[in-house]
Amino acid sequence: MAQRKLSRRQQWRIEKIQQERQQRLQRKLSHANQQLDPGTLGPEEEGLVIANYGASLEVEDTQGTNHRCLLRQNLPPLVVGDRVIWQRAGETEGVVTARMPRDSELARPDASGQPKAVAANIDQILVVAAPAPDYSSDLIDQYLVAAELTGVPPVLIFNKIDLINRQNAQAIEALLARYRAIGYPVITASSVNQQGLEALRAQLQGHTSVFVGQSGVGKSSLIRAFIPREDIAVGALSRNSGLGQHTTSTARLYHLPAGGQLIDSPGVRDFRLWPVPASTLQQGFRELAPYYGHCKFRDCSHRQEPECALQQAVAEGRISAERLQSYLRLVVQMVET
Ligand code: GDP
Ligand code: ZN
Repeated sequence: MAQRKLSRRQQWRIEKIQQERQQRLQRKLSHANQQLDPGTLGPEEEGLVIANYGASLEVEDTQGTNHRCLLRQNLPPLVVGDRVIWQRAGETEGVVTARMPRDSELARPDASGQPKAVAANIDQILVVAAPAPDYSSDLIDQYLVAAELTGVPPVLIFNKIDLINRQNAQAIEALLARYRAIGYPVITASSVNQQGLEALRAQLQGHTSVFVGQSGVGKSSLIRAFIPREDIAVGALSRNSGLGQHTTSTARLYHLPAGGQLIDSPGVRDFRLWPVPASTLQQGFRELAPYYGHCKFRDCSHRQEPECALQQAVAEGRISAERLQSYLRLVVQMVET
């Protein structure tokens, strides 16, 4: 009981310190905004958003030092991975004044169904699946489609391969062969027996990556395998004592020791396919694309019509029946939702 009281008091003190810090910074910012003293802020610099606490951000300068920054009014929304222009307002504090153009953005629908960015400037999406929880090729396809529509190349990571046995080996081999045939890079890995981790490390090097996939496939375990423990501890700490109320949505960018970055956050992990019309969905199945528009009937549903270019390609073994079926199931699913 005494311990709980103490920790609550500690909690209160931490919050109070954070509040005071926030208020001090806010005062500095309003001071700067009013331009009472133009000397308060340093010159404009480029920076990278490496953590987002809602009310404030952590911005890394070009030397690799972090600064707690507030946002100048009327800025577009900022997310982890954004490149920004900011100005120093003290040793470790600053003000973000502009967002630089994004090369890519990972978005997911907000409460009203509008896409909301959760990370920016990612250049590869690692889609993780595993023997357990049971993988579904439909779900893998949905992640691949979401990556394709985002315009960021996906890589398929088949994880927990220590769980491959005589019962599931053949089906998994066929599944992976199917994706390799389309041209997707496929890496098999296991954090338990360390297999494939070197190949995965090489794949991460020099990229800004995210791990996506259903809960339980081992994303956190993989992240822990690549990021120094201290960095994860810092991330967890700032998550718990971070400014702002919505601490659970804290996203963080981690630098990889071998070069490259990993972005992790609940928002990123929850990335999945959003509702899209069939015409958009088509673009997400890259190997089907060359056949659209070549069916006998312009409004061909690619199910049972004669002279369907897609069915014909399946019959000739140029595209996989499973992928076409997966596309057709997804069309129905999208119409229903
Ligand atoms: P996440 O929800 O995708 O982040 O998955 P976690 O990393 O939290 O892992 C979910 C569960 O799978 C945990 O109980 C892990 O210990 C376990 N797990 C993670 N990686 C592996 C692996 O390579 N092999 C096996 N057998 N289990 C793993
Ligand atoms: Zn057709």
